[in-house]
Amino acid sequence: MRKFTRTLPAPADLAIDMIGVPKDADVELDIRLEAVMEGVLVTGTASVPLSGECARCLEPLTSRIEVGFQELFFYSAEDAAEDDSLLDGVLLDLEPTFRDAVVLALPLSPVCQEDCPGLCVECGVRLAEAGPDHRHDVIDARWAALRDLVRDDEQDQHDEQDRQDRQINDDQEG
Ligand SMILES: [Zn+2]
Ligand SMILES: [Zn+2]
Repeated sequence: MRKFTRTLPAPADLAIDMIGVPKDADVELDIRLEAVMEGVLVTGTASVPLSGECARCLEPLTSRIEVGFQELFFYSAEDAAEDDSLLDGVLLDLEPTFRDAVVLALPLSPVCQEDCPGLCVECGVRLAEAGPDHRHDVIDARWAALRDLVRDDEQDQHDEQDRQDRQINDDQEG
């Protein structure tokens, strides 16, 4: 059995919708190789840097995930099924295995913080920055109608006043 660690640049195009691994970012690998009958069993963990944006507030974010993987690399094609990996001389190509493990581990809805409150639906401000008191005075439509009634009523009073004023003027003139 052999164990080793390596830091390798991340391969390109390792991303889903809102988050991915920046190309060439440092991926830290812990690898264990075991010789078995048919080939070499590779067991590894990788610490993978991520960058993307928060699914709730759209702020840029960076984080890291740990992924584990295991793959048996066969010595000979005779032992292996179609989808199995083959040892290419003494080299083994871990990239497809690594890629599959990372894509499965990427968060579908990454968040900048566990309790990110997202964006204000009224004005789009980040609620994490605006604070818990952020709100808009949205008047319920039924109350808005009431407000219009009050306005009409004020208007009526003005009209009444005008009428009375005119009346007085008329009286004076007559
Ligand atoms: Zn957020
Ligand atoms: Zn707002």
